[in-house]
Amino acid sequence: MVENILDVQNLYVEYKNMHQGKVSKIHAVNGVDLKLNKGEILAVAGESGCGKSTLAKAIIKLVPYNSGKIFFLGKDISSQKFVKEIQMIFQNPYASLNPKMKILDILKEPLKINTDFSDSQITSKVFEIAQKVGIDEKSLSLYPHEFSGGQRQRIAIARALILNPALVLADEPVSALDVSIQAQIINLLKDLKDSLNLTILFISHDLSVIKYLADRVAIMYLGEIVEAGLTDEIFYNHKHPYTKALLSAVPKINDIDKQRIILSGDLPSAENLPSGCKFYSRCPYCMSKCRESVPNNVRISDTHFVKCFLSVI
Ligand code: SF4
Repeated sequence: MVENILDVQNLYVEYKNMHQGKVSKIHAVNGVDLKLNKGEILAVAGESGCGKSTLAKAIIKLVPYNSGKIFFLGKDISSQKFVKEIQMIFQNPYASLNPKMKILDILKEPLKINTDFSDSQITSKVFEIAQKVGIDEKSLSLYPHEFSGGQRQRIAIARALILNPALVLADEPVSALDVSIQAQIINLLKDLKDSLNLTILFISHDLSVIKYLADRVAIMYLGEIVEAGLTDEIFYNHKHPYTKALLSAVPKINDIDKQRIILSGDLPSAENLPSGCKFYSRCPYCMSKCRESVPNNVRISDTHFVKCFLSVI
């Protein structure tokens, strides 16, 4: 039976922005719905500033949300202070590890705080997870600055997994790494997902990585999910003009759109969202009704939907 891990319903997140004494609202996440089942990797893709990291931070309660619901393992997270079964891997592994602590202590800490394990049980758990992520036991007595970027991200992954979380949020986990190291970390995540049946919400702007790793993909634009589906549906049967433009910019996904689509028109500010379709100012197919009415989700298949009037023409 499919086990639902995460169910986000009609989520809105706004930030307040103060400029020259005036307070305005930044609409970071605008009515997002998504579901994630056990053992799946759902990738959320989009340009910088589209709201994908804010969405992850709202799920793990690092930022408050204004309205909507987040159900984790069937429970509304608004009534819970901290959800230890959700863990996060951040973009910059150096900034996310305490430079004054040895790796052994960094990995022990979550178990000391959240479990009743004895010290020897904790140490053996640390050795076990270190081995799974490819860090040898001798290195556990070192400090974060003594590792390379790729090794530091392995340590950050180990720390995220040591409590055996039901959900891992990975926010651009390879974008701060050298290209040669990125592949190792992506392969590590894929292996861990398969061996531990991990459920991962994978935030990334890198569609090549997403194509390799994800089971499903959600495309986000100005805080909305404009298209979502199985990875093959998004890469080979996409319907939204924004998805098409994003994919056209990926080098060497050799069997799809060969000609790059350069979007003209201004990216609207998240402070003053346009009426109608939020993509209309940049859309090469914009029609008059796109400026006036908001397109609804149109179902293309049981697993694929798109938010665009073109799909119903
Ligand atoms: Fe373009 Fe209109 Fe579709 Fe929006 S609804 S993506 S403006 S065609």
